[in-house]
Amino acid sequence: MAKIQQKISLFYLFSKKVVSLQIEKIGMTMINISLPDGSVKQFEAGVTPFDVAKSISDGLARAVVSASVNGQIVELNRTINEDCSLRLFTWNDAEGKHTFWHSSAHLMAAAVLELYPEAKFGIGPAIENGFYYDIDFGEKVLSSEDFPKIEAKMQEIAKAGVGLVRREVSKAEALKFFADKGEVYKTELIEELEDGSITFYESGKFIDLCKGPHLVDFSSIKAIKILSLAGAYWRGDEKRKQLTRLYAITFPKKKELDEYLALLEEAKKRDHRKLGKELELFAFSQNVGQGLPLWLPKGTELRQRLENFLKKVQKDYGYQQVMTPHIGDVHLYKTSGHYQKYGQDSFRTITTPFEGEEYLLKPMNCPHHVEIYKLKPHSYKDLPLRLAEFGTVYRYEQSGELHGLTRVRSFTQDDAHIFCTPEQLKEEFCKVIDIVLYIFKTLKFENFTAQISLRDPNNTEKYIGSDDVWEKAERAIIEASAERGLKTVTEVGEAAFYGPKLDFMVKDAIGRKWQLGTIQVDYNLPERFELEYTGADNQKHRPIMIHRAPFGSMERFVAVLIEHTAGIFPLWLTPEQFIILPISEKYEEYAKKVLSLLAQLDLRGSIDDRNEKTGKKIRDAEMAKIPFMLIVGEKEEADGTVSVRRHKEGDLGTMSIEAFAEKVNELVKEELK
Ligand SMILES: [Zn+2]
Ligand SMILES: [Zn+2]
Repeated sequence: MAKIQQKISLFYLFSKKVVSLQIEKIGMTMINISLPDGSVKQFEAGVTPFDVAKSISDGLARAVVSASVNGQIVELNRTINEDCSLRLFTWNDAEGKHTFWHSSAHLMAAAVLELYPEAKFGIGPAIENGFYYDIDFGEKVLSSEDFPKIEAKMQEIAKAGVGLVRREVSKAEALKFFADKGEVYKTELIEELEDGSITFYESGKFIDLCKGPHLVDFSSIKAIKILSLAGAYWRGDEKRKQLTRLYAITFPKKKELDEYLALLEEAKKRDHRKLGKELELFAFSQNVGQGLPLWLPKGTELRQRLENFLKKVQKDYGYQQVMTPHIGDVHLYKTSGHYQKYGQDSFRTITTPFEGEEYLLKPMNCPHHVEIYKLKPHSYKDLPLRLAEFGTVYRYEQSGELHGLTRVRSFTQDDAHIFCTPEQLKEEFCKVIDIVLYIFKTLKFENFTAQISLRDPNNTEKYIGSDDVWEKAERAIIEASAERGLKTVTEVGEAAFYGPKLDFMVKDAIGRKWQLGTIQVDYNLPERFELEYTGADNQKHRPIMIHRAPFGSMERFVAVLIEHTAGIFPLWLTPEQFIILPISEKYEEYAKKVLSLLAQLDLRGSIDDRNEKTGKKIRDAEMAKIPFMLIVGEKEEADGTVSVRRHKEGDLGTMSIEAFAEKVNELVKEELK
């Protein structure tokens, strides 16, 4: 085997030489390379992206990670023989990070193979933060205690400057190579590839099936951390073997790793699953079922405040609230197309005992709202019709995918459907954007971008709806976003087959990105349900539907909000604004009087009447992140006052009950401005 391998390598070297000799023979063939700044530079054919970077500056040559030639991402040592447009990516570009982390996955696999020669490899992609590799360790049960050893081996290989050498192979050769090694996962992957498209990447003893691109060698990978491990079914299939998924991250500098680890620490403190438990907001019970959240009294208080807040805004914008059942006839979903999408792959149908009826747990609210629209004929004068519902939907998720409130099997969308004429689309879009912006402002999500997803103009047959209608809708979204001053990115080809959309991505207080809020245009459901309205021309027309959910879902939004605020909610939203701490049993009666007075003044809170020292009660109230502590004793009772402490800030002095209420109500008003 080794001999064959050596032969192949020699042949590879030889053929490369031939190529370079040929280029030499051609002599000084010059090519034009256009750069993103619009400039065009001339180079000799055979130049590499690295050479181009070096011709620009030594600094760029040190920083460049990968490149794209006419849109295709390639290694820095790939030769360029024709005119092209070239982009150079550094660590600061998403593409650069992707190349860096994906190469790091090869490095980790190479280290694992040296330490555990029996290991068999699945796939190892880059992810948003770092990378993973799915590995079958055979008999060995890996634990976090093994991480330092793997990290050290990775460091050693990286320091040695081992390269990542690309080689094209035939399908037969690729299959034989991995079959000989017993790499069953790789052979399964190769079976699905087309001959002529297969490449290997060699890094020392480790050879991987991969299409690349990668770093030229591992030497720039300076800081390495294996973060965690998890079980992962091969190809996500519960019936297949469970492999070990090793998550890790790497950086070009140690300082960057340190900063990242500090951020992870902070994220851990803010984890909504941890805070949700500590603040008694929500819980899960295995007896109720996985992924089915139970909202506790305080969480419910918080959620209902959010719902009421949105209901009020929506009312101002002309929405009408509706309520619909949690199940629907299976035929309804067959008409809408949701059965085809969710019927087999989600919760199965429910049947009645005698009449043979079949129902589906609601995976979407839209069909119910469509039926409300259909109840009576509509004229263009009735439109837009805006139907809103906090509608709970049910979708199956694999148990391994469940995660706190962000990945659940039952969730409530802050859903609404707008039925409008094509001419009204832009104005409706503007109004929905205004609602989203108001929510973000009130909840202090100051850093966000919006993604406009358009159809692929070269592939229009994929989409339903006429060209004319699409152009109008896409223009409406683009213009509405511009008029509202949104910072947008436009993704061509990312639209759903049934319409273009606008998604909001927010950055939370510690810089993590979350997708919240979607506005989606839909031509499909009006078509499937044959919706109509009578136009000014007295003819029948199809309305357009907009699906929109500014929070996304209550579950996901509350999770993000907990992590964004670290559980310190704004005063208008927090389940408890104050807690009264009587310094002894003697003052409990007075505490009750204060509580009832404050309730009358529209404030909410409770009394800590445990037989504990005041110091302990203060510490616990701080832990519970309750904004105000009201300490009451002899003096307060005699004067009809409370001693006020603010969470994290400390003593604010003594004030009358009315003055305290006024202060809180003022702050609330300010927050909701
Ligand atoms: Zn690779
Ligand atoms: Zn919908």
